[in-house]
Amino acid sequence: MNEVRILDKKFRELISEQAIRKRVDEIALQINRDLTGNEVIFVGILNGAFMFAADLFRKIKLTSRITFVKLASYQGISSSGAIKELIGWNEDLTDKNIVVVEDIVDTGATLERIVNELVIRNVAEVKIATMLLKPASYTRDIPIDYIGFEIPNKFVVGYGLDYNGYGRSLPSVYILVP
Ligand code: 5GP
Repeated sequence: MNEVRILDKKFRELISEQAIRKRVDEIALQINRDLTGNEVIFVGILNGAFMFAADLFRKIKLTSRITFVKLASYQGISSSGAIKELIGWNEDLTDKNIVVVEDIVDTGATLERIVNELVIRNVAEVKIATMLLKPASYTRDIPIDYIGFEIPNKFVVGYGLDYNGYGRSLPSVYILVP
């Protein structure tokens, strides 16, 4: 399945299911090594990161928990800039080691917002894992510890990511065909 149509747009495969699986395993291995001996709370960012978070978390061998927070800022195929309210911070994160699990980092505005929330909550340490990064549009200087794939500055769907709600179940990542 190299091309898919979602609503009015055509997409072609950019990253295969096998490549994603291999990369997720590598990242899990790295996190297991880097955080050995620590208790870790994974914080998945809904909705897009649910698939990456599930695949990654099942490979984690640390004493760990997972929680999810939600925010919405993206409608259609261009970032609106305005970031809505963050909901779901129920856990006490004081002095905890956190791994933020993101689907995609574009400008980094979302990531910055989340990291600020974590700093307010007096966490011990924050590491960031993102499946995808658009280096050409990333403007923040928050270091990203684990990056699945760097991709062009174009709209993608699949592996949890949607186009107007659709396409999340695709096991590969697809890029918009102009
Ligand atoms: P940022 O705040 O880094 O600019 O944008 C991050 C959020 O925008 C992501 O969590 C995701 O929801 C959305 N986003 C950015 N680029 C894409 C993309 O190419 N495809 C989809 N489906 N969402 C994107």
